[in-house]
Amino acid sequence: MNQIPFNKPYMTGKELWYISQAHHIGQLAGDGSYTKKCHQWLEAKTKCHKALLTHSCTAALEMSAILADLEPGDEVIMPSYTFVSTANAFVLRGAAPVFIDIRSDTQNLDETLVEAAITNRTRAIVPVHYAGVSCQMDTLQQIAAKHQLLLIEDAAQGLMASYKGKPLGSFGDLSCFSFHETKNIIAGEGGALIINNPHFTEQAEIIREKGTNRSQFFRGKVDKYTWIEQGSSYLPGELIAAFLYAQLEEAENIISSRLKIWHYYHQLLEPLEQAGKLRRPVVPLDCQHNAHMYYILLSDLPTRANLIENLKKNGISSVFHYVPLHNSPAGQHYGRCHGSMENTINVSECLLRLPLFPTLSLDQVEQIVSVIKGVLNQAKVDADFST
Ligand SMILES: *Cc1c(COP(=O)(O)O)cnc(C)c1O
Repeated sequence: MNQIPFNKPYMTGKELWYISQAHHIGQLAGDGSYTKKCHQWLEAKTKCHKALLTHSCTAALEMSAILADLEPGDEVIMPSYTFVSTANAFVLRGAAPVFIDIRSDTQNLDETLVEAAITNRTRAIVPVHYAGVSCQMDTLQQIAAKHQLLLIEDAAQGLMASYKGKPLGSFGDLSCFSFHETKNIIAGEGGALIINNPHFTEQAEIIREKGTNRSQFFRGKVDKYTWIEQGSSYLPGELIAAFLYAQLEEAENIISSRLKIWHYYHQLLEPLEQAGKLRRPVVPLDCQHNAHMYYILLSDLPTRANLIENLKKNGISSVFHYVPLHNSPAGQHYGRCHGSMENTINVSECLLRLPLFPTLSLDQVEQIVSVIKGVLNQAKVDADFST
């Protein structure tokens, strides 16, 4: 049987060549020529003040949490429907995540619930652009400004997507990208911190370089380098940057092949939505997405489990997302909810992600959709028999 994996990391063909170049140059530690090329690319794309490669988006979130200068008991507002690192980075600084519900259309944090969750301990808002579809950044920027809170974008899934024509990653004081193998543009493990508020630039460089002013030293700004404040090692080596640069160069093409597949799913699944069998993703008019994922929303948990099982029987892997953080052991220990989590719980039970990677063929998309059709139409017949 023709197996269809959920994801297949896409290689542009130039990765090993650039790695061999880095090897040839003989500078393998971080911040060499490939890292600089990646920084320039990210700075040009997001028009940010400064981009810094990191080991992961998790590392970029941790740097953001250090930059936010949090004290134990400070609060950070975020969705519960997200990856653990969104919360964990702040918990490491002693802060408490305050979880709010998501919108039922985009699965992004519901901007209308943010203000009511603010207390005198709130320090930051962390929106997550789920599936590369932007949160309502206008409203979030206004709320952050009004209450003097930091806005930190978890843009792990958002590279090359935009809101009202502005790239994701360009809205927060700080923003975090991921180049994990499961994302659109990859380095195996990798990430970047995007600094839009220049107030943070110098300190970010210090935190990333073990708490030293080594970056300034290399630019000739200071004549010796020394330990300045708290920090760690957040910079990747040149081999990772060389790999990543090959991907960034092809980013436009990678996104456009993904978009083509996304739109084909969307077209083929429309009749099932009209028949009330599932819901398709909603992309608000203000949002240009990057086809990070194609998901469907089923009517309930048993329907989803049955569909996963049947897809698997047909050699197709599909996966669901996320176990809500507010229900996880650590989420309950370190965080709290503000308000109902109805949409979060519903989506965690009903959402199913379908295979999407640049080399997935349109034939394979048809195959996947025909299994979904068969299963969901069959389910109707079973239900009819039971009544
Ligand atoms: C993937 C992801 C992360 C973590 O990215 P890493 O680069 O693996 O650390 C964080 N937040 C969200 C929303 C993600 O999807």
